[in-house]
Amino acid sequence: MPLIPIRSGRGVWLEDYDGKRYIDAISSWWVNLWGHAHPHINAAVARQLEQLPHVMFAGFTHEPAAQLAAELTALAPSGLTRCFYADSGSAAIEVAVKMSFHFWQNTGRPRKTRFVTLTNSYHGETLGALAVGNVELYKAIYRPLLMDVISAPAPDNSIESAEAAAAALDRILAEQGEQIAAVILEPLVQCAGNMRMHPPRYLTLVREACDRHGVHLIADEIAVGFGRTGTMFACEQAGITPDFLCLSKGLTAGYLPMSVVLTRAHVYDAFYDEYTKLNAFLHSHSYAGNPLACAAALASLELFRQTDALRANRVLALKLRAAVDAGFADHPQVIDIRQCGTILAVEFARDRASRTPFPWKERRNLRIYRHALERGVLLRPLGNVIYFMPPYVIGDDDIALMVTAAREGLDRAVAD
Ligand SMILES: *Cc1c(COP(=O)(O)O)cnc(C)c1O
Repeated sequence: MPLIPIRSGRGVWLEDYDGKRYIDAISSWWVNLWGHAHPHINAAVARQLEQLPHVMFAGFTHEPAAQLAAELTALAPSGLTRCFYADSGSAAIEVAVKMSFHFWQNTGRPRKTRFVTLTNSYHGETLGALAVGNVELYKAIYRPLLMDVISAPAPDNSIESAEAAAAALDRILAEQGEQIAAVILEPLVQCAGNMRMHPPRYLTLVREACDRHGVHLIADEIAVGFGRTGTMFACEQAGITPDFLCLSKGLTAGYLPMSVVLTRAHVYDAFYDEYTKLNAFLHSHSYAGNPLACAAALASLELFRQTDALRANRVLALKLRAAVDAGFADHPQVIDIRQCGTILAVEFARDRASRTPFPWKERRNLRIYRHALERGVLLRPLGNVIYFMPPYVIGDDDIALMVTAAREGLDRAVAD
């Protein structure tokens, strides 16, 4: 398919060079929060551009980075008082994985070298991030290059499933905890893994299991952080604090590449030592802490406060649910409609009763993608799942168009 060259973006709309417009119903792969070219963020980035576009972040610091760290640590689950900046989601995962491993090396537990991952999880594309992820499509061919990890079953969206999956994880930690540095997971929604969701109870149980067996918990909130699930961070819904919290995507509201890993003071302290002990965490990226990205992030956090966005999102979540139910609940091939905050997913199958999926080679989802584009909506179904994750500023008419285009696309995709 030919690429679509985009000339401009404004609010939830993108416009191509022929003047055709598209609703960005998936927030440009989950990064955009306030629409494109938001005046408040534009102004903040422009001001920072005049002041200081970039400076190296080793031996130097600057106000936007310090301010952002202060605001993030104030917002994050309590106990996460330290920030480490990187430049992409994948890089944040590398940082958390390396830091967890290295923490145990520095504190006399050198056998803790392994990581536990959930089935169906996604943590990025660089080799470490790919190794701790579990979506075969992205991973299979590179397996000879990847470290070996331990897989635990991912929970589904019921308390029984959450408890069973947590019990399975607990057994793994009980048997192999001596060798395990950390468990890594995506709290509440495995986004790239077809928007699979689980209840907060799972996170509570995993936190307890990690504590019981002396294993770190790495929460990858790269996709779900910054309000997507209804709370600022998904972990809040379980009242837990992970040992590492990875953030990116919505961090800069979809403006600039940046990520951050938040951790606890005692982790920081394990690396702060005499130079000659060589205990430091020697990991840096050229653009770490980029001031323009920090300015965008700070402006985005301001918008959360100014617009009382988490409250507004509760209303948006209800509207999205009503629209999606109206569009899909009666569809004979829809087998599940699920929601977490402002993330909605509609799963379809060839046959409702047996839940038999369409064979992947038929690429039914591509038909939906194409039809939606024709109708002026950017959707990107994952396997047999259509999902909506629009910017928070989407209005009623645009919600209606987005759902209508998806419904029509589904009707066409499952015909014949
Ligand atoms: C997108 C994503 C990543 C990777 O982030 P990049 O910036 O694309 O490297 C990692 N984890 C999750 C949960 C993601 O959704």
